[in-house]
Amino acid sequence: MSEAIDSIGYAGLGIMGAPMAGNLLAAGYPVTVWNRSPEKTRTLAEKGAAVVDCPRDLAASGADALFLNLTDTSAVEEVVFGDEGLLRGASNGQLVVDNSTIDPLATQRFAERAAEHGVAWVDAPVSGGDVGAKNGTLAIMAGGEAEALERVRPGLEVLGSAVTHVGEAGMGQACKACNQVAVACNLMGACESLALAKRMGLDPEKMIEVVSSGAGGSWQLANLGPKIVHGDHDPGFMVELFLKDLGIVDETARALRLALTGTSVAEGYFRSVAAEGGEKLGTQAMAKALEKLGGFRFDSSGDERNTG
Ligand code: NAP
Repeated sequence: MSEAIDSIGYAGLGIMGAPMAGNLLAAGYPVTVWNRSPEKTRTLAEKGAAVVDCPRDLAASGADALFLNLTDTSAVEEVVFGDEGLLRGASNGQLVVDNSTIDPLATQRFAERAAEHGVAWVDAPVSGGDVGAKNGTLAIMAGGEAEALERVRPGLEVLGSAVTHVGEAGMGQACKACNQVAVACNLMGACESLALAKRMGLDPEKMIEVVSSGAGGSWQLANLGPKIVHGDHDPGFMVELFLKDLGIVDETARALRLALTGTSVAEGYFRSVAAEGGEKLGTQAMAKALEKLGGFRFDSSGDERNTG
């Protein structure tokens, strides 16, 4: 068994990547960072991270594990396989650890291509949002060779409270796609139950309190329900990123000829919010589609009672 990783390179310092790289630094790992927009490296540099100019130099820094936290499949492809990509500077025995949410089948192909350079691939997408990223309490679903995962596990355990090996390369992303299906359908249930409460004149906050402690409860209802009631649509996780993830689900389900009807309806709600300019709002903005269809506002104080 090879030894655990000692040093880390981190590419992609957005909402998720910046706090995750910060936690690895705070845990004592030497961390080298790269971000496409260089200004986002400043805060980590002030805390002691080394900064490089391109992904190739990140790999050439010699870090044992090269973490990625990028928007989508094409960004990962460019950063790893591009002209100034990681593989141009990588050496035998380094690991790629991809915390982004991307396509499972593309991940399998990326892992095969990286293996030709002696670089192992662990896909390790996360769930738990920006709060989980800051607090180091993410759920991490990992795909790849068991030996590669064990080398990087101590680092992943800094980032998350649960690190689960779910299969070969690509299966971490497959598990994340399942997670997004469950999130979409739970959120839709939360929004629709809140719409019904509002229109019946039932205090939505009381409804959230009672239902959350029973069989109808969900993380979505308990955490996003109160935001919906108060019209707070600030993003933890943006609608446009969720639509990107549902695109991955769509493509996978289509290839498998699998009907995911509830998820398709949820996607329709999100598309309608995006079409009204809500791409950068948080996922709880799905409620705005329900408001439009129902002719009411969650945050209005008017008497909505109309039991038809
Ligand atoms: P974000 O704040 O928009 O950050 C995206 C990062 O990707 C930025 O560093 C951006 O660089 C970089 N990037 C995008 N395209 C690139 C390209 N072509 N080449 C190089 N770098 C590129 O997004 P985020 O919320 O941190 O999400 C990152 C990943 O985590 C996504 O896959 C998302 O689905 C997943 N995720 C997010 C959450 C959440 O709650 N936010 C939860 C779970 C999983 P610039 O700074 O230059 O734009």
